[in-house]
Amino acid sequence: MLTKKDIVKAFKDAGLPKGAVMMLHSSYVSLGEVDGGPEAVLDALQEALGPKGTLVLPVFAKLGILTELIKQRPGAVISPCPLGTVCAVGPKAKEIVKDHWKADTVHGWNTPFGWMAKNGAYICLLGCDEDRNTFLHFIEAVNKLAYMRDASAEFVVGGKKIKKTWKYYPGPHRDFIGLECILREANAITQFQLGNAQVRLMRADRIYEVLQEEFEADPAAALCDNPECADCVRQRAKLFEDKASRMLPGILTASSRLAGRYVPEMIENLKASGIKYVELDYVQGKTAANMKAEELAGVVAELSKGGIAVSALRVPFISDEPQAIVDKAKEAKIGMVILPAYPYDAIKVPKGMKLLFANGVQTAVSAANAFAAYKKAFGFAFNPANFAAAGEAPFSKSYKAGRFIKTMVQLDIVDAKYNGEETEFARGNAEVKEMLSIMRCNGFPAVKGQCVISIGGGAKYPGTLREAAADLEYLLDNM
Ligand SMILES: [Zn+2]
Repeated sequence: MLTKKDIVKAFKDAGLPKGAVMMLHSSYVSLGEVDGGPEAVLDALQEALGPKGTLVLPVFAKLGILTELIKQRPGAVISPCPLGTVCAVGPKAKEIVKDHWKADTVHGWNTPFGWMAKNGAYICLLGCDEDRNTFLHFIEAVNKLAYMRDASAEFVVGGKKIKKTWKYYPGPHRDFIGLECILREANAITQFQLGNAQVRLMRADRIYEVLQEEFEADPAAALCDNPECADCVRQRAKLFEDKASRMLPGILTASSRLAGRYVPEMIENLKASGIKYVELDYVQGKTAANMKAEELAGVVAELSKGGIAVSALRVPFISDEPQAIVDKAKEAKIGMVILPAYPYDAIKVPKGMKLLFANGVQTAVSAANAFAAYKKAFGFAFNPANFAAAGEAPFSKSYKAGRFIKTMVQLDIVDAKYNGEETEFARGNAEVKEMLSIMRCNGFPAVKGQCVISIGGGAKYPGTLREAAADLEYLLDNM
């Protein structure tokens, strides 16, 4: 049977110094039989820390018998912050817990967790794993990760009812267990056996130091990569959305054909990819430009209800009646129409609408000539895959030959070989990485206001939207 003496000795042997502050996460039952029960465990831990040491336990939920008992200890101080409540016993208790509820975040700086990072406190996992390590939320919070959310609660401080919202609150699922090997490799964990339990002892400042590097390299470091985990798929999408909004020179949209066959499927895939706009080319296998205005309006409304806006109606064929299509788009409340570059008869563009010409499989000079008659009123959608399929190098030839820097409103992120075969991004001859990079440097000088980057616009992508978005993210991470 485990005794108080055994526990005190084990922590001393593991290097826990007298006078330390230690945050404990525990599963009491994992210890096996303990002489004196759970109270003896708390006694032992306080003895191991000594009279100058302070014991801290997260108590924001029923996290085991020890979290209930610590609150009854003489001198226990409980933070009133309802979402990350901690209870501390010892001379530093007040200092650690003080003003926790006033902080902007539950787990960041100016909270007990930040205090521990600043002051070299110890974190102990007694019979539980990193999944229970609330201190890891500190590292998420200080990195202000885009997938974190606001959380609100009502609570009472000094008899006063307060309603407050905290920023950078953690999401529903994470893979803290996956961080353990990183900490282990950095020798940041001392592990030992106590009764039947495995105990991990770590220093908060060391965990912060090691994992900070990890999160700087990969903001998704705490997320699992199980594609069936809806929580982490959504959280990764948030990270990508944030990255795209920072790194791309325009809004990000995607081909509806690439997004899915039916509207609900499109919404789901766009959301899982962190994309908020869609370009309507095909819907349910039909050409969107051939749909009736009411049908089209229905699609726009359904998408909008799902949180997706339509960036444009894309016409994949040279139409005899471009005016009718433009008018139909207006009726369906679509603000932009993309037509293949062609010398149409005059088109009247309704107020508030934009008309773009996109190059088909043609040379830069022929696309620019078709465009020339309209260029004052319209913009250009640059499709590098089609230029490549026409045998031209899109960046080194077409972009300059057509002087498209002066007219471009949209860049399609699509790739193809010279023989027309569609490829993943930067795997064909469309110089899509070069095009993306130059637009990031130049911006879209022709446009005041919204310009557009379209995934899969005007060509096929050999894969799913999720794969295409990951492909674009890879390009962005490597430029
Ligand atoms: Zn997950």
